[in-house]
Amino acid sequence: MPDARRHALVIGAGLAGAAATASLARRGWLVTLLDASSGPAHGASGLPVGMLSPHITRTPTPLSRLSALGVAHTLAELQRLVPQGSGWQACEVDNLGHDPGRWPATLVRPAALVHAWLEEAHALGGLTHRWNTAVQRLSSAANNDTSTRWKAWDAQGRCVAEAPVVVVAAALGSGDLLTGNAGPMSRDDLPLNPVKGQMSLGPQWGAPLAERPRRNDGVYVPSYQDEGLPPTWPGAIWAMGSTFERGLRDTTVTAEAHERNARSLETIEPAAAQHLRSELAENRLLGWSQVRCASLDRLPLVGAAPNAEALRQRLAAARLGRQRVALADVPRWPGLHLLCAMGSRGITLAPWCAAQLAAQIDGEPTDVDPTLMAALDPARFAVKNARRPGTAQQPVTTG
Ligand SMILES: Cc1cc2nc3c(=O)[nH]c(=O)nc-3n(C[C@H](O)[C@H](O)[C@H](O)COP(=O)(O)OP(=O)(O)OC[C@H]3O[C@@H](n4cnc5c(N)ncnc54)[C@H](O)[C@@H]3O)c2cc1C
Repeated sequence: MPDARRHALVIGAGLAGAAATASLARRGWLVTLLDASSGPAHGASGLPVGMLSPHITRTPTPLSRLSALGVAHTLAELQRLVPQGSGWQACEVDNLGHDPGRWPATLVRPAALVHAWLEEAHALGGLTHRWNTAVQRLSSAANNDTSTRWKAWDAQGRCVAEAPVVVVAAALGSGDLLTGNAGPMSRDDLPLNPVKGQMSLGPQWGAPLAERPRRNDGVYVPSYQDEGLPPTWPGAIWAMGSTFERGLRDTTVTAEAHERNARSLETIEPAAAQHLRSELAENRLLGWSQVRCASLDRLPLVGAAPNAEALRQRLAAARLGRQRVALADVPRWPGLHLLCAMGSRGITLAPWCAAQLAAQIDGEPTDVDPTLMAALDPARFAVKNARRPGTAQQPVTTG
């Protein structure tokens, strides 16, 4: 008899949501996975090919520490679940600018890993999915036994799923869902920003124009072969990307963004830039465009959602307005968790962050440095805002 308390709704079936689904299913949880699209990995995680490599800095930063943990974790997941050549390929990358030299790296088509995680969760008997299901609103109600029950509602006002635990892994959609419609958070406490990105690519035939991937302002992949690439794409591609267009949420492929990629490629491999431009002129160039979700401090949000209004009320009652509040003392919405803002590093960060979140939900102690987990805590913005005078928010309600 399944334990009804170990049932989670996961909203969003990209790298973050699929990794969370598999991590929870491996722990014996039942997961109902909901996505607005007609299948998994249709958002930023539909990336044709991306790079898994660490972010190296002279002195360690939360991002450099996180990415070192993330690279090892994602690589282990790829090796465990996806045959090399059907979704990933080990390589080396020549860094021309930042962190110069030749470094080990991995080329990854994230959808392969997303599908593998969902198959794993299905095989464990832990997954029900619902596609074409955009969640518009969440509401919570206390059960008789004081536990909480979350309901997910669609735009027609239908309850599409319910469970005691929710993981919101919907990238930018997380902000729309939690801060709109009298949602449980305010935009200041959940500061998520769109960064549109476009990759230029084409079929690869003949000798590649460089021996291995090269990175400067963008990454040039001279050749990537993958028997799992969708039939709409060639089986072997070259790719250059990607642009960063802050504030844009549309996914139109534009000639201007191709030209920006060509300019970046000039500093990497001039012959390849010339090839990109001639393909563009001949109308043969392919493009892929999507929107990244970045937080204000560019680190992911991983953990229980803060109840910022309860925090402000507590501070006001105790007359603690300007005092520092420990993250551990922030009131949370019971059962509501965030896993988003993977920025331009979801391949590196999402799997490790999802595994940490699943352990947290399961109440398992972590051996990760608490300062690193604090840097990812979704309550970090609410804590800063609560200490600033004049930032009182409109009361928020659920239900
Ligand atoms: C051009 C480009 C190049 C990139 N290159 C790299 C790279 O080289 N290396 C790297 O590590 N990363 C790269 N990234 C970033 C990486 O793709 C993302 O960080 C990652 O895919 C984010 O995964 P996610 O699951 O958080 O979001 P997504 O994959 O966007 O998934 C979010 C899902 O939530 C669903 N959703 C949203 N709202 C709702 C709702 N209300 N109800 C139900 N479902 C909802 C969406 O349909 C979507 O499926 C790149 C991104 C872009 C755009």
